[in-house]
Amino acid sequence: MSPTPIPLTADEMERYARQIGPGVLNVHGQQLLKGSTALITRVGGMGGPAAQMLTMAGVGRVIIAHGGDLISPDLNRQVLASEAGLDRPRAPAFAERLRSLNRFVEVEAIDYEPDDEQAIELARRCDIILACPPTFEERLRLNRASVRVGIPLIDAAQWGMSGTLAVFRPGHTACLQCVYPDTPPFEELFPVVGGISSAIGSLAALEAIKILSATGKPLWGKMLTYDAYHGHVRTVKLSRRDDCPCCGATKIQEIDP
Ligand SMILES: [Zn+2]
Repeated sequence: MSPTPIPLTADEMERYARQIGPGVLNVHGQQLLKGSTALITRVGGMGGPAAQMLTMAGVGRVIIAHGGDLISPDLNRQVLASEAGLDRPRAPAFAERLRSLNRFVEVEAIDYEPDDEQAIELARRCDIILACPPTFEERLRLNRASVRVGIPLIDAAQWGMSGTLAVFRPGHTACLQCVYPDTPPFEELFPVVGGISSAIGSLAALEAIKILSATGKPLWGKMLTYDAYHGHVRTVKLSRRDDCPCCGATKIQEIDP
């Protein structure tokens, strides 16, 4: 599905005044954002700032999914968290934090990681998915839901001081499983510095805002890699695999680079 524009109130026009104009959104784009629903899973180091930016930008409905309780090592990067929330469930507290940022946005919290069926059901209620979990298993699950329902997927990943951002559009680009045909090994407690998490999460939100508001040129079918440790940034086009078990059966209409 694609968003339906919803008229803005005078208060909303005032709220979003700095992001409506030349080089940013137009009023119609802001109305499209208001008519949009975004799913973000999970909402830790990357998904937290992504959810924050989408909420502040005025995406009409923000659905966050994240299970478990907040623990001390989360606090080096999870910007929606606070020390007061330690040893308590993340999702309801993070949702409250988001609601406090923008009364014009509806925030829904899910306090678990969706399984295959739940991911598809959630995707059917959304216009876009931002996949920010640490595990390939979850990222590939969200990719399957994106392809099945036919909505864009933004995949964010991090390790150490590096991160990647990839933007997929079913029926037009490769999918995440084309990039990772075999699930790579996963390291549970990998190193990560909060600055890279927030950078990649914010870029994921920016791509989502562009797509939902029909603004600018999204990174369709591309992966941006930011190796902050060595100071390298690059963008590569992702190739589709005809034998991809996820999207191989989908007829592809290429997007102009
Ligand atoms: Zn694929």
